[in-house]
Amino acid sequence: MQLYNTMSKKKETFAPIKKTVGFYACGLTVYNYAHIGNLRTYIFNDILKRVLLFNNYKVKHVMNITDVGHLTSDQDEGEDKMLKGAKREKKTVWEIAEFYTEEFKKDLKNLAIIEPDEWPKATDHIKEQIDMIKTLEKKGFTYQAGGNVYFNTSKLKDYGKLARLDLNAETKSRVEKDPNKKNKHDFVLWFTKSKFKDQEMKWKSDYGEGYPGWHLECSAMSSKYLGKQFDIHTGGIDHIPVHHTNEIAQSEACFGKTPWVKYWLHGEFLILDKEKMSKSKGGFLTLNKLIKKGYDPLAFRYLCLTTQYRKPLTFSFESLDGAANALKKLQNKILEMLEQPKEGKEENVEKYIEDFQTAINDDLNMPKALAAVWEMLKNEKISNLKKYQIILEFDRVLGLNLDLIQLEKLPREIEELITQREDARFKKDWKKSDQIRDKLLKKGYIVEDTASGPRWKKK
Ligand code: AMP
Ligand code: ZN
Repeated sequence: MQLYNTMSKKKETFAPIKKTVGFYACGLTVYNYAHIGNLRTYIFNDILKRVLLFNNYKVKHVMNITDVGHLTSDQDEGEDKMLKGAKREKKTVWEIAEFYTEEFKKDLKNLAIIEPDEWPKATDHIKEQIDMIKTLEKKGFTYQAGGNVYFNTSKLKDYGKLARLDLNAETKSRVEKDPNKKNKHDFVLWFTKSKFKDQEMKWKSDYGEGYPGWHLECSAMSSKYLGKQFDIHTGGIDHIPVHHTNEIAQSEACFGKTPWVKYWLHGEFLILDKEKMSKSKGGFLTLNKLIKKGYDPLAFRYLCLTTQYRKPLTFSFESLDGAANALKKLQNKILEMLEQPKEGKEENVEKYIEDFQTAINDDLNMPKALAAVWEMLKNEKISNLKKYQIILEFDRVLGLNLDLIQLEKLPREIEELITQREDARFKKDWKKSDQIRDKLLKKGYIVEDTASGPRWKKK
């Protein structure tokens, strides 16, 4: 299995550290609904996990919930995101966190994303975060200024290696600069002098009452659940220059193990109107909006499968329609297989299985894997029963819930109309047979005549 590692900028052969693969995914900041860009990243995570499982690895998947400390700028500046959500909705930050966590879980379920083994919340792991600061302090990686505790990036010889940062370059950022920082890339581990007077989330610590900086939670929680070194860490590409860079700095400094994480995988953005979709912009699209417009959430999942995760995905309703049609076609194929399992003789499907496996193991090339699926389905020589068995195997990775499709019992009225139409056809009364076909169509059923008799499907 080959995976592209952002750290080496190369595809590498995957070899886990221990028997069970340790996999940490940065979760959602729960101050708003997840937008479909966020969800694209979680679908990519799910595909990765499913491909590992398909390859018979055991996986321990941890995904955090960010419910504290994330400011609107990744560089410890701007507004507090949770507070922003609370003000917008006139609720407490705790209510906001609880509500959007539940909504996020519903989205994941609708997208057939396998639940992580652990969903740790940042606010449930404040002690672990403070303990990390204490260790970093003992090792000489911190300083206090202006009431906050900072990580001193100049104490590391390889700070910024993930993003290959040029540490001497000027930042173009227009946001306010923190005068307490000794080095441009230093970051806050603990805020005490909160600039947000109405901050509700505060905890006591040796450094004063306050709350943790955003990056710290992922280091503290991943080490708690996966150990001080683990296999895979994921996120969107926006996490490379700051969040993941800082996670690496504080973890390698604290735990003394390099590399802290063996494989770094990053998903490209979902783009709308030529811009990265983002929660801070008003018009973002949620899964609920797509459902309200009548789309099956799995059509969005199918759409995500049509672009490899390292390529940008430009969203449009035309492309979503295309994905919805392809999914419907696939579902109808499954119904055909269930109706007439014996059709076809050929049982040799090795080539398609090989093509599918090669594609998924080549850095999750799902568009190529889908092509192998459709190639197999097109081959009329393969028996429907065999096709059904194989497609369900493939669906362990695709995650399109194809195993849930069942033959529906036809309503009696429709069954009678089909029989009447058969009678008319037998009597060569084409006019009547066409009239009945139109009537069926109006009731939402399409009838096709095949060599082995009439076949129906829903419109
Ligand atoms: P956040 O809630 O901002 O922490 O983001 C949750 C996840 O979604 C992170 O892994 C981000 O990198 C990712 N993400 C944010 N915007 C997009 C986007 N437009 N397309 C794909 N992934 C995104
Ligand atoms: Zn993180």
